[in-house]
Amino acid sequence: MPDTVGNIEVNTDLFIGNKFVPAASGKRFDVFNPHDESLLAKVAEGDRADIDRAVSAAQAAFATWSNMAASARGALIYKLADAIEKDGENLALIETLDTGHPIRDTRNLDVFRTAAVFRYFAGMADKYEGFVVPTEPGFLTYITRDPIGVVGLIVPWNFPLMFTSWKMGPALAAGNCLVLKPAELTPLTTLRVAELAAKVGFPPGVINIVPGYGATAGQYLAEHGGIGKVSFTGSTVTGRKIVQASAGNLKRLQLELGGKGANIVFADADIDLAVNGSAFGIFHNQGQACIAGSRLMLHEDIADRFLDKFIALAKTIKLGDPRDPQTEMGPLTSRPHQEKVLRYCELAKEDGGEVLLGGKVPDDPALAKGCYVLPTVVRAKPQDRVNRDEVFGPFVTVSLFRDDDAVIEMANATSYGLGGGLWTRNLNRAHEMAKRMQVGMVWINCYKRFHPGSPFGGIKDSGYGSEMGFEAMHEYTNPKATWVNYAGHTPPFYKR
Ligand code: NAD
Repeated sequence: MPDTVGNIEVNTDLFIGNKFVPAASGKRFDVFNPHDESLLAKVAEGDRADIDRAVSAAQAAFATWSNMAASARGALIYKLADAIEKDGENLALIETLDTGHPIRDTRNLDVFRTAAVFRYFAGMADKYEGFVVPTEPGFLTYITRDPIGVVGLIVPWNFPLMFTSWKMGPALAAGNCLVLKPAELTPLTTLRVAELAAKVGFPPGVINIVPGYGATAGQYLAEHGGIGKVSFTGSTVTGRKIVQASAGNLKRLQLELGGKGANIVFADADIDLAVNGSAFGIFHNQGQACIAGSRLMLHEDIADRFLDKFIALAKTIKLGDPRDPQTEMGPLTSRPHQEKVLRYCELAKEDGGEVLLGGKVPDDPALAKGCYVLPTVVRAKPQDRVNRDEVFGPFVTVSLFRDDDAVIEMANATSYGLGGGLWTRNLNRAHEMAKRMQVGMVWINCYKRFHPGSPFGGIKDSGYGSEMGFEAMHEYTNPKATWVNYAGHTPPFYKR
């Protein structure tokens, strides 16, 4: 059933076997624009019966897709990347209306990053090779990487369009068919990508999209016996539920979970560079990023100078309607999430923290109906709740340090281990500190950089497994060792 989103026709049914179909229950759920909480679309609400249908469609498509020449799979993924770029203006606007991301980001970053990830994995399809192991004379032992079969992909609401490519790209390149459940808050661009995939010629059943709630459709997908692997991006709490749900058929898991990134500025840093990069690290996408640099650690000698500049910059960030190309920060993606972030502003004060900037909604009456929160800077102690929990908003804590050992201990004193940053001109310190940071990604004199070729993932409560690069291809394939006895060897036993 097409809906009109910002004058663009968007299909809002489930996408199964290349067709848009209503949910078996006939139910639909509301999707809102976080700028003013107006109703954007009514989307089909998938549940168990729909997941069953989608898994069956994917199973039926698997033989065709996995036996297709890898280059032919790649060619289709290239076509999808081209179609995404061609439809970029529509995708950018739909994403902006659905998530609250400023249009300048969705238009200039998200659409191109999405296409770039699909292109990277399109090229990967026929370059991902097996190998031969020198085992014994007279034997050829070769290792191939087989697709897993039908994979379940569960994504969150913070970068819905981009995450569609992060998961679909390698899954498809490796020869899997998929069932993807977008977040209930932000399903619209994923449905549009599926529509584009059908248009460019993906066979029916290779890509299936089932919007729905996490506790119903998501949980059942994680439990489903027909699913060989789940790739999940979301909160650590949900990640644990998925581990439990997956036990029935021991499916493979890839978990990209929360983060609490330490961003350390040493006394010898280029302060202007660090101020700029740290602001990007926490305020881009309203701070709704797993890799956000949400714990700023400043050397005592430069703390005042850094903070003056950082706060001055944060005050100039232009909040506004995300459709305005001048807007640099939009609303958070939902009302409950805005309330959560504001609650942390109160908890910071309860724990004795000092709010240096923000900590509240903007005064601008034009933004009064939206889920906005001002850029917030809080001075807090390492043990405070705001330094332990993932706030996931435009909210950064500031702590001071004196020496390298103390700051690395503070940086690692978190249950998370996703990303972290270091700002220093001292090469030895940079490498030494990077080695000691307990995370999956470290940025030195930059923050929040990523690329389709560079593995992306965490350790500890941030999960396991990696997106991107060859690591992602390993995630979506199983190794198979094949032994060929070409010299007529017989075992030394039972010789007659
Ligand atoms: P969430 O865990 O609430 O939801 C994520 C997805 O899981 C949604 O599609 C949801 O419907 C589904 N879900 C919810 N309960 C489920 C269940 N019981 N079984 C199966 N699926 C279920 O997370 P969120 O609030 O949407 O996203 C924000 C979180 O995602 C943050 O913690 C953030 O750090 C994390 N994140 C991690 C990465 C990464 O790569 N490590 C990237 C982006 C976001």
